[in-house]
Amino acid sequence: MTNRDWVQRDLSVLWHPCTQMKDHERLPLIPIRRGQGVWLEDFEGQRYLDAISSWWVNLFGHANPRINARVTAQLDELEHVLLAGFSHAPAIELAERLVGITPAGLSRVFFADNGSAAVEVALKMSFHYWRNRGQTKKTKFISLANSYHGETLGALAVGDVALYKETYRPLLMEVISVASPDCYAREAGESCADYSRRRFAEMEATLARYADEACAVIVEPLVQCAGNMRMYDPVYLKMLREACDRHGVHLIADEIAVGFGRTGTLFACEQAGISPDFMCLSKGLTGGYLPLAVVMTTDDTFDAFYDDYASLRAFLHSHSYTGNPLGCAAGLATLDIFAEDDVLGSNRRLARAMAAATAELTDHPHVAEVRQTGMILAIEMVRDKATKEPYDWRERRGLRVYRHALKEGVLLRPLGNVIYFMPPYVITEEQIHTLARVAREGIDLATRD
Ligand SMILES: *Cc1c(COP(=O)(O)O)cnc(C)c1O
Repeated sequence: MTNRDWVQRDLSVLWHPCTQMKDHERLPLIPIRRGQGVWLEDFEGQRYLDAISSWWVNLFGHANPRINARVTAQLDELEHVLLAGFSHAPAIELAERLVGITPAGLSRVFFADNGSAAVEVALKMSFHYWRNRGQTKKTKFISLANSYHGETLGALAVGDVALYKETYRPLLMEVISVASPDCYAREAGESCADYSRRRFAEMEATLARYADEACAVIVEPLVQCAGNMRMYDPVYLKMLREACDRHGVHLIADEIAVGFGRTGTLFACEQAGISPDFMCLSKGLTGGYLPLAVVMTTDDTFDAFYDDYASLRAFLHSHSYTGNPLGCAAGLATLDIFAEDDVLGSNRRLARAMAAATAELTDHPHVAEVRQTGMILAIEMVRDKATKEPYDWRERRGLRVYRHALKEGVLLRPLGNVIYFMPPYVITEEQIHTLARVAREGIDLATRD
């Protein structure tokens, strides 16, 4: 079977995510036969360097022997059991270890099976907490402009990426939106910290105004990933934590994309020295192997639900694959790698290599900014460097970069006009130079006319 055979069969039965299927009349679909380390390989032996960690999930490479071994061993013991009334070692061990490595105070672990579901859980738990505490007027959520929290209706409502949200607006709950602290919009000469601090005034005013009605503020700490990899300073999170406490509003940290070392620390909240009331984790949680998610929360939250059955205060939310043992085993193997190897130290070197390899792009006539937070590096391609005027989205210039990269054996998947690297942590410095070269060529091609 060749690529073509698989593509033909695929296109007659599959409906792909986040895709206008008609694009595939011209845009080749790439069937992958196997993965190894940073590499994906198709059915004709062509290899692609997975520079975006297969949608930000993969941490330690495809077919990682250590994760493979643990999942395989688990497969022989127990593939799945319901987590209501029953339990199993991988869920218990994973929960214990997550409590040990996440910010202080996060002492309870609620399992879900994907990131959007985790966001739904956090929103429902926060609302339900206030209700159980007698605060029935608290029914609203506050979120940041340009944020992304997933695709299910609740998660979509608190998010703000128009491309995904606009069509469904009539179905979505109303959310209080606050301007993003995203430093791309800072004044010339203004530091990112000063800009994020200045931006906090609107959040402070919003919290003051809606304290009686707001359950929680939900944010993606430090990097708004799906919102074009926009970045902000930790000072904003510090101020947000303090203000949420002062106004009696929960803080939900959606670390689904930024958790597990992406921003340079194990969790992004660490850079602000804060603990949220809820932390959502998924994606890297299993090293990119299996769908699994958790919502971590505090004793205070847990206690608000703990009562006699007839009080009807329990959190009666579930998903069939909640806490799946295979996913938990992959999670444990992933945490073992963090514990045994100096992952964060090695990532610091890789992050420096990414910065060095892309340094010259700062001067490119169609690059407005090269920004970086740890292992996430983004290049903002614009029509006009001086005014930051973007290219019209209909021109799909990012797609030209995508096509060029594929020809060069690299999987880059720009978000609109933003080209980014978010590679598995097993990438080498030499491979980083390849990424930078291919990105540079792609940008040259895409901005030629
Ligand atoms: C990917 C993502 C989600 C949604 O996770 P899924 O598993 O794709 O549903 C939520 N929040 C953030 C910040 C994400 O990047």
